Amino acid sequence: MTISLIDIGSNLTHESFAADRDAVMARALAAGVDRQIVTGTDLSSSHRAAELAAAHPNVLSSTAGVHPHHAQSFGTEVREALTGLLHRPQVVAVGECGLDYFRDLSPREAQRSAFIAQLEIAVAARKPVFLHQRDAHDDFAAILEEFAGTLAGGVAHCFTEGPAELEEYLKLGLSIGVTGWVNDERRGQRLREAVPLIPADRLMVETDAPYLLPRDLIPRPASRRNEPSYLPHIARTVAQLRGETLESVAASTTRNALRLFALESR
Ligand SMILES: [Zn+2]
Repeated sequence: MTISLIDIGSNLTHESFAADRDAVMARALAAGVDRQIVTGTDLSSSHRAAELAAAHPNVLSSTAGVHPHHAQSFGTEVREALTGLLHRPQVVAVGECGLDYFRDLSPREAQRSAFIAQLEIAVAARKPVFLHQRDAHDDFAAILEEFAGTLAGGVAHCFTEGPAELEEYLKLGLSIGVTGWVNDERRGQRLREAVPLIPADRLMVETDAPYLLPRDLIPRPASRRNEPSYLPHIARTVAQLRGETLESVAASTTRNALRLFALESR
């Protein structure tokens, strides 16, 4: 049986893919990764992601947003430009956006206001949000609660936490994106406990390529660059932890991504 997966978080505009992006895309398709959602992390990468997706409409979609690391760059002009990008059909979500108090690369107050502004944009555009959160759980949940019932859904991208945080995210109505973090038995221990508890209709998979190369990948690429063709490896680990087949995880995660991002099923 051939599988069909959607990589909901692929940083395909990253410079590490500049030299061989077409080959990377071909390998993904050959591996059964039929669609990628290319992540925008600031205004410039959101533009590039939208252009790339427009050039490959059958296999790529994109997000438009400002990562909390770049929250200081958020202002009226960025808000208007993001709103404009969201009118394009290939731009399917707002993000990545959220809060990151682990690295604190932008002041927390700037992070909170950029996050709130992007949630407002998502509500107005009726598009879901692609969310990043690190070490900021309480503020993140409090802000999202204010948008409960108005947002067109969202996904907690690169979820790395445990069962308690999972329960809170589910209460907020979020879907859960699982990366190759799950392939790290040591660092991913809490996530591995949470994965079997994710409801089948809230689960999605992603590589976050070129970051987060699955730790147990054999052979290990010399470049240490992660790429979307490794998504089946991640999905297989998720399936094992859940006591499901790869086919069943592929079917549910693809259905969930098609629904959340309002992608036409092909
Ligand atoms: Zn992220």
